Amino acid sequence: MPNHIFGRSTKGTLPTAVKGDGCYLIDSSGKRYLDGSGGAAVSCLGHSDAKVRTALHDQLDRVAFAHTGFFTSDPAEALADRLIAEAPEGIDRVYLVSGGSEAVEAALKLARQYFLETGQPSRHRVIARRQSYHGNTLGALATGGNEWRRAQFRPLLVETTHIAPCYEYRDRAEGETQEAYGQRAAEELEAEIRRLGPETVMAFVAEPVVGATAGAVPAVPGYLRRIREICDRHGILLILDEVMCGMGRTGHLFACLEDGVAPDMITIAKGLGAGYQPIGALLCTGAIYEAIKAGSGFFQHGHTYMGHAMAAAAANAVLSRILDDGLLPRVREQGAKLDAALRDRFGQHPHVGDIRGRGLFRGVELVADRETKTPFDPARKLNAKIKAEAFAEGLICYPMGGTIDGQRGDHVLLAPPFIIEDAQIGELTTKLATAIDRALAA
Ligand code: PMP
Repeated sequence: MPNHIFGRSTKGTLPTAVKGDGCYLIDSSGKRYLDGSGGAAVSCLGHSDAKVRTALHDQLDRVAFAHTGFFTSDPAEALADRLIAEAPEGIDRVYLVSGGSEAVEAALKLARQYFLETGQPSRHRVIARRQSYHGNTLGALATGGNEWRRAQFRPLLVETTHIAPCYEYRDRAEGETQEAYGQRAAEELEAEIRRLGPETVMAFVAEPVVGATAGAVPAVPGYLRRIREICDRHGILLILDEVMCGMGRTGHLFACLEDGVAPDMITIAKGLGAGYQPIGALLCTGAIYEAIKAGSGFFQHGHTYMGHAMAAAAANAVLSRILDDGLLPRVREQGAKLDAALRDRFGQHPHVGDIRGRGLFRGVELVADRETKTPFDPARKLNAKIKAEAFAEGLICYPMGGTIDGQRGDHVLLAPPFIIEDAQIGELTTKLATAIDRALAA
């Protein structure tokens, strides 16, 4: 099956989505699919949100697009103001783009320009983590630690080094406290900075809760605070990629708020447009902005569709739904119910090694052996089988893994809409259990 749309080549191989109805997508045969993963953590308001639809119609009646080289727009200004008001301390500027990879590219270039403008031209290296994903454009791909995605493009990728992710289930030692493990994992950054030479390093990039490559793996308490201290000690920018885990997915508008950490830059996308429009953003501190303003006065970057009025209008309506309609506490509440339902269903399952996550961002890791945590042989393609069985059952979920890294296994990522009802949590876990058991039996 082709993995992307290539015009006529997908006809007949994929069902045609014709309608959205709350947490469900409906295909041309009338079959309903419960969206248990929001595609890939995109559709946080489901597929038929009235407020977003109205906002889009209203904006279309005013102006759809005016190039940012000439104009700003009311929705873009309002969006920036609202994001800044809700962002971690120090974040003071917003750069609107069209998606996650664009946000990460902008972050890398802004970091480099910041160091040039502040007289530190030797700083150009990026440190990131293994088992991370930051996008598919070349800079973002270089930053990510997903070897399977990187392998064939390696000659085109700028040099980036990767340390271990904070992955409690696999890496916390027997008898080690969470705190001690978090410190130990963070110390890898210190060691890597020293190895490269602090004066050559410009940024450390990480997802506060790892999404696609590990299946909703949150950092242990204290890890990110230690990372912040290490970056500060060496004058390195901390870039947190919240493209997947941000915009309320964890029960906080920005995931790092729960960790009590304020980064220098944050990237967001996915849930910001909730699938109604393609939009992403790079947020940065006032200090970074002021350095560029006082220097060349111009960030050497840009895309045609930046600050698109329709996209910004959708994002404003999405933010209003999340913040004004009580969806953050709802994510925490329904997230706890989803966690409980998963534990109830899979807690004793012989091939479920770990159930984890925050809010409505949950992961289930599959293992051949629970005692030894041995993963399944990637050749078994368990994750692809689970995806197919779930889809046949009418459930969209996001299984991954197996092929990424020899030591790590298959997992299923769940990121349902924030409006998910109790009965739909039941439907999700029942269908997922059926899919996993059928895939294991195949
Ligand atoms: N960063 C993270 C953490 C992501 O999960 C993704 C998308 N899965 C991206 C960046 C790239 O976003 P996009 O696909 O919108 O370019």
